[in-house]
Amino acid sequence: MGVWRLKFVQTEKDCDEDKVLSKMEEKMFPDRMARGIAIDLLTDDKPLSDLLKTAASEVANTYKDVSNTGVLADYIFRRFAGGIRAESKHDEDVLNQLGIDEEYAERILLQCAGRMDVVLRKQKHKEAGVTHYRWSTSGDGRVCERCRKLDGKKISWNKPPPGGHPGECGTCKEGYCRCVAVPELDPLL
Ligand SMILES: [Zn+2]
Ligand SMILES: [Zn+2]
Repeated sequence: MGVWRLKFVQTEKDCDEDKVLSKMEEKMFPDRMARGIAIDLLTDDKPLSDLLKTAASEVANTYKDVSNTGVLADYIFRRFAGGIRAESKHDEDVLNQLGIDEEYAERILLQCAGRMDVVLRKQKHKEAGVTHYRWSTSGDGRVCERCRKLDGKKISWNKPPPGGHPGECGTCKEGYCRCVAVPELDPLL
């Protein structure tokens, strides 16, 4: 993040450094759903919410044992957009419609978090002209072998490594990847 900050500051010489950075980071890197911070930028960003809705549908469709994947997709989207933690109380009504229990709903939402997060990140980076990111794992024992090898590597959004971008890894323990894409600015900028 240090290099990124330095480069960013160079292009914004006349602005109050800290203020610009915090505003920019707030906009570009809304915290992950897992940390329970709401992503209110969705309210006036239709293209982004459409992208996230599509992602939610795709993820929901992979749960063949859930009776209504449309309801599940909508639920995944609403929880993500609202920054609601996977562990937070689930909507009884929705659970009934889906025919699943609280524990399973929590697991599904944990599994979806990374896949939703990467869509949001990719779009935000694109808007800011960020073409590459640096792979960042959670750095604990639950990180899979593949993600561990990618940690710290600079990667193009256009060229995902085999197995996908951070959040999309299918070999992570417990069925979900907690890695994130940290923005990298072009060294020539
Ligand atoms: Zn992994
Ligand atoms: Zn990972």
